[in-house]
Amino acid sequence: MPEGDTIFRAARTLQRALGGRTVTRFDSVYPELTNVDVDTPVVGRTIVSVTSRGKHLLMTFSDDLVLHTHMRMNGSWHIYKPGERWRLQARDMRVLVETAAYVAVGFNVPVAEFLTGRELARHRQIQALGPDLTDPAFDRGEVIRRLRAADNPTMEELILNQRVLSGIGNVLKSETLFVAGINPFAPGSAVSDEALDRMLTVALRLMKMNVVESQSMTRAFGHRTTGSLDPKAGQWVYGRAGKPCRKCGTTILLRSSGAEARLTYWCPQCQA
Ligand SMILES: [Zn+2]
Repeated sequence: MPEGDTIFRAARTLQRALGGRTVTRFDSVYPELTNVDVDTPVVGRTIVSVTSRGKHLLMTFSDDLVLHTHMRMNGSWHIYKPGERWRLQARDMRVLVETAAYVAVGFNVPVAEFLTGRELARHRQIQALGPDLTDPAFDRGEVIRRLRAADNPTMEELILNQRVLSGIGNVLKSETLFVAGINPFAPGSAVSDEALDRMLTVALRLMKMNVVESQSMTRAFGHRTTGSLDPKAGQWVYGRAGKPCRKCGTTILLRSSGAEARLTYWCPQCQA
């Protein structure tokens, strides 16, 4: 699943390419997107802004229309010049927004809907999101309050709970808990406020490391957390089951949990 910073980067890239421009063509395989009121078509509207909220991407058009998309596991947005060859198959296109200068293509985007500003303000899933790690006004106290109020039993579940904290995906989950020295399967109630605060400091730092210019848009590969320039040493624990811990040499463990079989990597020594 793409991490929140990946969506943040995608939104920023889309904003630079499309912001302030007029839609010249709109297409989608989803009939509920193409059957919008003929009096107010998408073509001819201006793209006012493209922003992210956690892992949700919001493209706001003039005259009160918002395109809400969510990438889930495999969705991604690409930007092309008109006529440029796409890197994915045309059959994977779900949504397409074209302007005179660029065409934005949403591939394999499983969630796409139009909302009015009012509907967005009432959108249960989006409005319930916890503080967003990519938001400059990120509120740590609010995250800790939500964490204490949530009923997820373990830290690895709590840190992925988007109602507690929005923006963390599976890679940053394992990496953040490792750097903060927190056991992924410790109950949230057993972790002190001080340790939670340290974990948020780490999460913010790891998130910032990855909020850089990227051509790859929403591709989650190359999520780097160690600061090493060696491409083979990009992560502390993620994807390293059976290998020695980079800090203490203990064998990194892997466990799959939940209905979605989420993977958690950790060092039993550093995260005792
Ligand atoms: Zn270790």
